[in-house]
Amino acid sequence: SHLGCGHSAPHQALEEELAAFTGRARALVFSSGYAANLGVITSLLTRQDGIFEDSLNHASLLDGGLLSGAAFTRFKHNCTTDLTERLAKSSARHKLVAVDWVFSMDGDKAPLFDLAQISAQHRAWLMVDDAHGFGCLGPRGAGSLDAAGVSEQQVPIYMATLGKALGCAGAFIAGSEDLIECLIQFARTYIYTTALPPALAAATRAALQLVQTEPQRRLQLQENI
Ligand SMILES: *Cc1c(COP(=O)(O)O)cnc(C)c1O
Repeated sequence: SHLGCGHSAPHQALEEELAAFTGRARALVFSSGYAANLGVITSLLTRQDGIFEDSLNHASLLDGGLLSGAAFTRFKHNCTTDLTERLAKSSARHKLVAVDWVFSMDGDKAPLFDLAQISAQHRAWLMVDDAHGFGCLGPRGAGSLDAAGVSEQQVPIYMATLGKALGCAGAFIAGSEDLIECLIQFARTYIYTTALPPALAAATRAALQLVQTEPQRRLQLQENI
C-alpha cells in the first residue's frame, strides 16, 4: 500500500505531473476510479452531511454517497432548478454536489459553470468526475478544466481516470493541499489497498506526455466521431 512501502518514485512523479497539468496544488493517485470516488466522498462526509448527485451519475459516485452515510439526494439530470431547490431545503452541515462532466451513457455534459455558481451560493463543495473528458476534450486534453474554464475555487474536487483516454489504469483526485492531506489520512480505498504497480505509473507518465505533445490524436478522434 502507499502508506506501507508501495509509494515509489514513479508514483510521486506522476502525482506531481498530474497536479501541474490540472493546475491544482496536489494530486493523489488511486488504484481505480471506483476506489477514488468511494474514497473521496466517504472521507469528506458523515451522517450530519448531505450529498447531491445527478440522477445519471456513475455508479461509483452513487455508491460513495450511499456508503458515506450522508443524507442522499439525487436531482433530475442536468436540472439546475431541481438542484437549487434541494440545496435550499437542506440543513446538512457540509454539502457536496457531485457530477460526471461527460455522462457515460448519454454523452452529454453537466453545466459546470452554473453548477459552480449554485454550489458557491449554497456553500457546497463541487466535485467533478471527468473520466470521459480527461485526455479527450479541450484544447490541451484537460477535459472540463479546459472546456469549462473552472478554477480550483469553483471545482475544489477534480477526479479523472487513467484507464480510458490514457490507456492505462487507475485514477486521481486533484485539489488543494488540505484536500489531499485529508485523503491520505482518511480515504480507506487509498490506505487499505495495493498501490498501482510502479511500471503502470511510469506508463501513465508517458501517456500524459502524449496527451500534451500529440494534439493531432484528439483532432483525429473528433473527425472519427
Ligand atoms: C469508468 C468510470 C469510473 C470508474 O473508473 P475505473 O478506473 O474503471 O474504476 C468512474 N467514473 C466514471 C464517470 C467512469 O466512466
